[in-house]
Amino acid sequence: MSQKKRSWAEPYKIKTVELLKMTTREERVRALAEAGNNTFLIKSEDVYIDLLTDSGTNAMSDVQWAGMMIGDEAYAGSKNFYNLEEMVQKYYGYKYLVPTHQGRGAENIISQILIKKGDYVPGNMYFTTTRLHQELAGGSFVDVIIDEAHDSTHPHPFKGNVDLNKLDALVKKVGAEKIPYITIGVTVNMAGGQPVSMENLRQVRKYCQQHKIRVVLDATRAIENAYFIKLRENGYTDKTIPEILREMCSYSDAATMSGKKDLLVNIGGFLALNEWDVFEEARNLVVVYEGLHTYGGLAGRDMEAMARGIEEAVQYDHIKARIGQVEYVGQRLIELGVPIVQPVGGHAVFLDAKKFLPHLKQDQFPAQTLAAELYLESGIRAMERGIVSAGRNKETGDHYYPKLELVRLTFPRRVYTQAHCDVLVESIESLYARRNEIKGFKMTYEPKYLRFFQARFEQLK
Ligand SMILES: *Cc1c(COP(=O)(O)O)cnc(C)c1O
Repeated sequence: MSQKKRSWAEPYKIKTVELLKMTTREERVRALAEAGNNTFLIKSEDVYIDLLTDSGTNAMSDVQWAGMMIGDEAYAGSKNFYNLEEMVQKYYGYKYLVPTHQGRGAENIISQILIKKGDYVPGNMYFTTTRLHQELAGGSFVDVIIDEAHDSTHPHPFKGNVDLNKLDALVKKVGAEKIPYITIGVTVNMAGGQPVSMENLRQVRKYCQQHKIRVVLDATRAIENAYFIKLRENGYTDKTIPEILREMCSYSDAATMSGKKDLLVNIGGFLALNEWDVFEEARNLVVVYEGLHTYGGLAGRDMEAMARGIEEAVQYDHIKARIGQVEYVGQRLIELGVPIVQPVGGHAVFLDAKKFLPHLKQDQFPAQTLAAELYLESGIRAMERGIVSAGRNKETGDHYYPKLELVRLTFPRRVYTQAHCDVLVESIESLYARRNEIKGFKMTYEPKYLRFFQARFEQLK
């Protein structure tokens, strides 16, 4: 069969399995009641298919597990550090590496080094931990993503792109000397895993060079972004994933990385840099927050697993199967007429709860309700991304009413089969058929901070 016609089938077979508890509806009713109808509070053992997040939930290969056995747990100069450094240099192309326990460790360090009080840090939509570290360092985040990113059905192929006019407006308003760097997320998590084009990266680089502004990539899902460029951008069809990845990174000065996503591990991250001076400072700071600069909060074995994960993650057949699985679920739901965010992103499918349950007002928590019903239906765990996650306005005390009211179905890498995907689609199909009977929620307990993690709900009569 020709390469073109092959489906997204997985380039691996299963050697070890983790047995799951199959629950009855009665058991799920009980588990959900105990969890106050909040999927974050359900015990993992009561979940059949866990689509809460793709972070650290990946399945490692036998090669990665073998690497765990050759962990060099020396305090300083572990050989696994040098392996990881070599892989980052080879595939991402940066000169210097500072390992960190996960992505936010790298974000903390780069924010502390580059941001001064009163600075502005533009970015293509915020990410929770990234923005928080920028603010803690004294900066203000400014969103410069294109408008299409905020529209759940706009078919733009690169909805993660930076709007250069918005960036230019910020530069004119506050002055380039107040902007230490721009963060570019590739892909953009909060926009639904939407990619950035190479053309846009090139333009941003050119603009920033003219104004002496650094470019820092959030490279957490850069390999998924590279795959979308290969698929959708003129001139890249015949380029390999490593070639595209290298070119993407070449338009930046540094990258923060959460290995828990693209790199097929359960823990790990890094900061990668090209400037010696910044590297020197990062090497100093990492000792304060994470650990010595040759382990950064990781065991030697974790660095080895991540080094090997890089080599596996850039394989075309891997990334095609990974994104192919997400696309498969998205396309089947579209065929069934189920409202989802389009185009389907790299790591998740988002159900549009406002359109799914139009009879519920937003303060009856449609996405929270839908996530709870999906769990009852078949033990599948998803996450609310809507009014509960948005929180309240500190001044008025009212809920924020975000435009998008979504349920996120996030896919761990190499974990679930196509039959699991079919169970998911069938479950959503049957919920959709009886959507008119679904009643909303009222909130019975509301924590002060990040309420979505621990809030509790009751079904309305
Ligand atoms: C997960 C994530 C981070 C933070 O990484 P952690 O490993 O969870 O600390 C940063 N940026 C993006 C885009 C992410 O998805």
